[in-house]
This record gives sequence, structure tokens and C-alpha cells, in this order.
Amino acid sequence: MIRTVLGDLSPDAVGPVMLHEHVLFDIVPPGASGVPEAPIVPEARWQADYRSNELAANACQRDVGVATRELALFAEDGGGLVVDQSVRGLARDAEGLARAARESGVHLVAAAGTYVEDRVPSDVRALSAEALCDLFTAEVTEGLDGTEVRAGIIGEMGCSWPLTPFEARALSAAAGAQAATGAAISVHPGRHETACGEILDILASNGADLRRVVLCHMDRTHPEGRGIAPLLDRGAVVEWDFFGIEQSHYWMTETVELPTDLGRLRQIADLAAQGFGAQVAISQDICTKTRLRRWGGHGYGHILRNVTGLMRRLAFPPGLIAALIRDTPLRLLNLKEIPQ
Ligand SMILES: [Zn+2]
Repeated sequence: MIRTVLGDLSPDAVGPVMLHEHVLFDIVPPGASGVPEAPIVPEARWQADYRSNELAANACQRDVGVATRELALFAEDGGGLVVDQSVRGLARDAEGLARAARESGVHLVAAAGTYVEDRVPSDVRALSAEALCDLFTAEVTEGLDGTEVRAGIIGEMGCSWPLTPFEARALSAAAGAQAATGAAISVHPGRHETACGEILDILASNGADLRRVVLCHMDRTHPEGRGIAPLLDRGAVVEWDFFGIEQSHYWMTETVELPTDLGRLRQIADLAAQGFGAQVAISQDICTKTRLRRWGGHGYGHILRNVTGLMRRLAFPPGLIAALIRDTPLRLLNLKEIPQ
């Protein structure tokens, strides 16, 4: 069963899936300029997008009506389900997601867990690993933030570089919550080439099933594709979730050169040729207004509208395309049965 914000659902009933997006979000970094409520005028749009979340107004979208319209456009592109990975620390809005799902007709999955330490409220930062595990478990089994809306995935679990003691505790708690609920774990790794290996070590030593762990943001963590194969050998799923960002400049780290959509697909094709096709996930990780249709962006439907055509141009077999846009994310979202 897939646990959506409106209830449990058979995977058979679901069309194409975007595994890593943000539907309602506030990711405004400290030091961002302006205020979240400010408009983004056309003259400023390109620069806001290029420097991405430096502008407060760009990094915050909490309007349910806007989200509903964006999801309806995703459905027009054939989309069926979106996972909102806005965990605690990213302005998670469980009731808002439920409303957007009801009004758009698009299935939504919400997320248990915590983001990077400096986004997490101090009372939660102070919790032990055991208390965090109970919290994440209850977010899947009972509800999020005092609502009856339940999470269907754990994470994106936020990891800084270097990993902080709180983040290490939260990862061990995520492993425990996975064992208790059968949910998959999604991890936002620190910006370092050794971060993912360290994360898998912590998850494995706390009993996680690494085949149900997704390592996000390969685009900026392993931009040239080096160092990914050892993660796949351990069973993990790796995710390219910057689809739609067609620029080389990465606004968070001057030293990283981002791949483009075709570059991402070529790396994925290489891994698929080595037999890892079922361990790759793709998404767009939309977390700024300028990537939404309303502000002239590509929206949640870009992969379905444009990238599947690029896949065919690169001669991806139909089975691999189906795995990327539907089968693999549904396999991960399908809660594993826990023996009572
Ligand atoms: Zn994200």
C-alpha cells in the first residue's frame, strides 16, 4: 500500500510518480535578500532562478491555491502522484497538502523526518535517537504535526557536511522508524563525495534495509558520476533530482559544475547498462517559485513532458523509462509489510 495524504492506496491505481518534490515549502536560507511575500517581476526572474534560493521570495511557496493549480498542470502532463519531501524544518503543511490533493485530484505523499540541523527547532534537536525514532514512526502510523494526515516516506533526512551529531542521531532514528513502519528512507546528503558512504554506514549499522534507501542529489554530490557504483553495490537507490535545471552553475558551491538533463540521462544510461537500472530514481526537487509554471518555470510535469522524449532519443528501452517514471518510485513507496 502507498500511504498518501488522503489515505492508503494500491500502487496499481497510480500513474507516473515524481518521487522528490516540494509542493508547499519554505527553504529561505539565512541571509537571503528581500521578504518571502515580495513579487518576482519578469525583469528579475532569470537572475532569481540562476542564483536560485538567494532571494527569499523565490525560496518560499506556501499558497495552497497555487500548489493546486501546479498539480493540475502536472496531471495534464499525465502525472499521477507527487511526493512532497518537505520534512520538519521545511515548513511542512500536512493539512495544506491534503487540501491540494483533494482539489487537484493528484495523489500526494507527505514525509516524516527532519531536515539539516540548522533548520530544525531546538526542542526537536534536543531529542534522543530513541525519541526521534518514536516521533518519525508516529508520523507514519498516526499523523503529522497534530493532524491525522500520515507520512508515506521518511525524509529527505537532512545531512550537512560534516554530519552533525543530531543528524547522525536522526539517521539512526530513521533506520528504526523504517523497521517499525516499512517505509522507505530518502536522504539529502552533505555536499561531499564521501557523504553518501558515511550515511549508508550509519543506516546499515542501525539495521536499515539499504535497498529501501534513496540517496538524493547525485547531480551535485557526484556531478561527474564518479563514486556512485560503490553505493549501488551496497543496494542503495541513487537519485538525480535536478531535472529541469539546465545550467552549469551551482548556486550553493562554486566548485561544482552541474550536469544538464542529457548529461544526467547519459550517466543513468551507463549505470543501466551495468545492470543498475532499477536502482535509479529521477525527479525535479522543485523548491523555488521560478521553477513553477506560474512563474515561467518548467513545473512538476517537465520530466513527463520533455525528458521522456530525451530518453527515447538516447534509445532508453521502454522498460527502463517505465522504471524511472513509475515502477521504481512505486516500489519504494509501497510500505513493506512488517510481521506483527
Ligand atoms: Zn528536496
